[in-house]
Amino acid sequence: MSLIDGRAIAAAITRDVAARAAGLRARAVVPTLAVVVPTTDEAALWYVRSITRAADRTGVECRVLHLPQPSGPELAATLRDLSADAAVHGVICQTPLPAGLSLSEVGGDIDPAKDVDGASPTSLGRLAAGRPAFAPATAAAVLEILRHERTPLTGARGVVVGRSIVVGKPAALLLLAENATVTVCHSRTTGLAEICAGADVLVAAVGRAHFIGADFVKPGAVVIDVGTNPTPDGGLVGDVDADAVAGRAGRLTPVPGGVGPVTTALLLRHVVTAAETAAEAAAEAAPAGQDSR
Ligand code: NAP
Repeated sequence: MSLIDGRAIAAAITRDVAARAAGLRARAVVPTLAVVVPTTDEAALWYVRSITRAADRTGVECRVLHLPQPSGPELAATLRDLSADAAVHGVICQTPLPAGLSLSEVGGDIDPAKDVDGASPTSLGRLAAGRPAFAPATAAAVLEILRHERTPLTGARGVVVGRSIVVGKPAALLLLAENATVTVCHSRTTGLAEICAGADVLVAAVGRAHFIGADFVKPGAVVIDVGTNPTPDGGLVGDVDADAVAGRAGRLTPVPGGVGPVTTALLLRHVVTAAETAAEAAAEAAPAGQDSR
């Protein structure tokens, strides 16, 4: 088995994002991501810091708005205001959300054109309908890695373990769009190991440390480990037991250093794409001979 270097894939994406951000800045457009943080959860704050560091490296401006324990209407108003702000090109709402709020509900307050992490039901619906939309960055990272690895997907058997709207479902839709034959598993699935063992491409998005063992893996399969499970010593482990599957998997994404860095890089790519689209629309809308900026 060999490990897939997510950091190297992310570095290549980051170089492209930085070049596109520089192009936008040369046209006086500062690609800008707004991150709403309605939590004081340490892991969430760590993730937000990693986004701001990556944004710094690419020339994407990152505005972080801390809103500890907002009410539903307060959060909705913030997301709508940011969506209406022409200087903001991407809006994300960090989880966990305050009790009683769900991402599918809150995501509806983000303009789909700025929904760079695919949180709104509109984005997911467009993805399902095969229309242009931003996929959640983590699900997009799964596909980006498979493309980078030149993994054959047409006719391949793909199994996704997990059906959340941010990872499992969109990852399954993206695999389907690449003509894989896709099975989605969840906590009520029976015969899980056997189903997984039929997969040419196995995506683990469960949130349980070392859940996927050797008996879940077809010899030679490509295994994408989305899980990020904190350990007592402050580290992270995936959903896949890397030691156990080493003798069976063909390729595996490590945790850390696999899906995570690619996710952050793609989030920023979505921001520059949104900024480019907005700049083109503004240029087209401007009367002839007038500077659209
Ligand atoms: P989630 O919303 O908790 O969903 C977990 C999914 O796993 C659910 O569909 C659940 O089934 C299923 N599941 C739970 N126990 C199971 C079992 N025993 N057998 C089969 N399926 C089971 O989690 P998520 O947001 O999708 O995240 C999944 C993992 O990815 C987490 O570790 C998270 O930290 C990580 N993650 C990583 C990134 C990244 O950038 N690397 C980004 C986002 C998330 P039910 O639907 O039946 O409950």
